[in-house]
Amino acid sequence: MDAPELFEWSDLSGGADAFQRFSPPVRLGVFGDPVEHSRSPVFHNAALKACGIPVAYTRLHVDATHFPEALRALPAAGFLGANVTIPHKAAALAGVDEVDDYARASGSVNTVVVDGQRLIGFNTDGPGLSRAIREEFLVDLKDLRVVLLGAGGGAGRAIAVQCAMEACERLVLVNRSVEKAQALAAELAPRFRSEKPAGPVERLVAIPHDESALARELEHADLVINATALGMKRSDPPALPARLISPSLLVYDTVYSGGATRLLEDAAAAGARTANGLSMLLHQGALSFEIWFNRPAPLEVMRQALFSTP
Ligand code: NAP
Repeated sequence: MDAPELFEWSDLSGGADAFQRFSPPVRLGVFGDPVEHSRSPVFHNAALKACGIPVAYTRLHVDATHFPEALRALPAAGFLGANVTIPHKAAALAGVDEVDDYARASGSVNTVVVDGQRLIGFNTDGPGLSRAIREEFLVDLKDLRVVLLGAGGGAGRAIAVQCAMEACERLVLVNRSVEKAQALAAELAPRFRSEKPAGPVERLVAIPHDESALARELEHADLVINATALGMKRSDPPALPARLISPSLLVYDTVYSGGATRLLEDAAAAGARTANGLSMLLHQGALSFEIWFNRPAPLEVMRQALFSTP
């Protein structure tokens, strides 16, 4: 019997039987609220099948109140691990027993490994973004001057930490509430005091999300990453005014739903190279798979499954 595509958090209190009676048994899933839209089951199930691993991956709907309880129920329900998405990534950091250094610095966990009764947390969003940039633009983050929109959000922080760990040439942290970008800049500053030669501008800057500040910083940028929520709805204003986009910019939008965002349309019209967040989604998923199974993920199988699903 195939497993349903969606479970409620309360199913976890039913213990292993609620999940292990299916063929293949459900031993992986993604926690979220909402979670119905998540594309992770599509490419994880394709990968599991291609690798001959008799495990199914499902969606687990859980609200914020019940998330800690649901997370703790994973071992008894027979799970190997889980992914965590909106809005639980920060709560997952607090809810696991152990956490890797990058996840701690990012302030969030998107991948959980069940090790006996213990839960170990990782975050693959930043490394996934890094792989996506390399694949889309054939260049490494470390060689780029990056302007990061939405640096104060969960994904933005994870990307900022990744840029800092890779010691990118320059990082401009942009956030609507500028205090969040400033606090993050203070945390990351030690990583930007390196042997890299000082240029005409500071290597690490925090600015508000406004046009005049952006115009100044974009003169010294190679890559713009949108990690704001802008673009998730078609009616959203663009994350960056079109007049600020030059043809030499690389523009990466972490948003992946609903086709091209206004930002990507404007960037393409300006002659800039663009990519959307599907590649980040793919690579963060492949990295989760590698953490769970300690083997390379079948990336092309996952890509095919993800890109052929509307
Ligand atoms: P979040 O924690 O709620 O952060 C939202 C960010 O957007 C904050 O920086 C917020 O600024 C900013 N923002 C919201 N409305 C804005 C507006 N009107 N003008 C300017 N800035 C605004 O959300 P998240 O979980 O980080 O997700 C952010 C984005 O990343 C989403 O679009 C999501 O789809 C994407 N994402 C993609 C992947 C992937 O695999 N491709 C993975 C994770 C996330 P304030 O701090 O001022 O509120």
